[in-house]
Amino acid sequence: MKLKIENITHQYKDFYALKNVNCELSPGIYGLLGPNGAGKSTLMRILVDVIAPTKGRVVYNNHEISTLGSRYRDLLGYLPQNFVGYRHFTAEEFLNYVANLKGLDKQSAQIQVKQLLELVGLADVKRKKLRGFSGGMTRRVGIAQALLNDPDILILDEPTAGLDPSERIRLRGILSKLAKNKIIILSTHIVSDIEYVADEVLLLKDGEFIEKAPPNQLLDQLNNQVWQVQIADNQLAMFSAKYAISNVHQQGANIEIRLISQEKPSPSAINVEPRMEDLYVSYFGTQENSASFHNV
Ligand code: ADP
Ligand code: MG
Repeated sequence: MKLKIENITHQYKDFYALKNVNCELSPGIYGLLGPNGAGKSTLMRILVDVIAPTKGRVVYNNHEISTLGSRYRDLLGYLPQNFVGYRHFTAEEFLNYVANLKGLDKQSAQIQVKQLLELVGLADVKRKKLRGFSGGMTRRVGIAQALLNDPDILILDEPTAGLDPSERIRLRGILSKLAKNKIIILSTHIVSDIEYVADEVLLLKDGEFIEKAPPNQLLDQLNNQVWQVQIADNQLAMFSAKYAISNVHQQGANIEIRLISQEKPSPSAINVEPRMEDLYVSYFGTQENSASFHNV
C-alpha cells in the first residue's frame, strides 16, 4: 500500500497554504508536526479528498484518488480538526449512524461500536447525548468514529486536542496497537504526542515539508547542540534574544534554561541529550517567538 503526495500546492485566494509538497507514505505511523497555520489541516483535507488541491495530486496505489471516489473513501478513517458530531445523538447512536454511512451491516456495526466505545473509554456514557460531552469526550467519540470499519488509512487531525494527559497516553496505546498494515497520519503541534508513537515525523513549516525522518534521526541532528545553563534572572532577556530556548526553569534566585546552540553558550553550560521539544524550538521557535532559530 502506497499513498503518494505529488507536487501539491494549495491556495486560498492568493495565499499559499501548501507549496509544492511531496511525500511517499507506506504503512506506518506518521506524525505531522508544525505550528498553527503550517498547513496541516489543509494537507489532511486534501488527503481525504474533502478539498481538491490547487495543483498536484494524491495517488493511492498508482490511482489518483479523485478518480477512485468511494473506493478510496471506503479505505479512510478521518477525524476532522473541528469534529463535533451530532449533538442530539447519544455516543452509541452517533457511532451506529456513522457505521451505517460506512456501509457496515447491523451486526458488525453493533460489535464494532461496542468495542470502540470500550477502546476509547466511553462505554459508561454511551447512552448520554453528545451535547453534554466535554471537549475530551467529544474528541474520543471522533477517534472512535474514525476507527469504524478498520480503515487502511487513518487521518487524525489534532486527535489529542482537549484530551487530558491520561487520555493522551491511552490514545498512544491505541495507535501503536493498530499500526502494522495501516497508514496512520496524525497532526499535532505538541511534540510529546508523537515522540514515542511516530515511526516518522514530517515537519511542516509555512506550507513546506522541512524534514521527514524517524524521531531518533531528527534528534541526532541536535547532538552536542543542546545545553543546560544556570543564569541569573537578569540574563534571561539576553539569552532569549541570542538562542532558541526550549525550557526555562526557575530555581530559587537562579534560572536553569535549556537552549540550542552549535557552540557552548557559556563556560558553565552542560551538554544535554536532545529531546523533541528542543527539535521543535530549533525549527519553529517558541510560541511567543515563532521565528526559526534553525541554522543559527
Ligand atoms: P494548520 O492546520 O497547520 O494550523 P491550516 O491548514 O488550517 O494549518 O491553515 C494553513 C493556512 O491557511 C493558515 O494561514 C490559515 O489561516 C489558512 N487557511 C486555512 N483554511 C482557509 C480557508 N478556508 N480560507 C482562507 N485561508 C485558510
Ligand atoms: Mg489544523
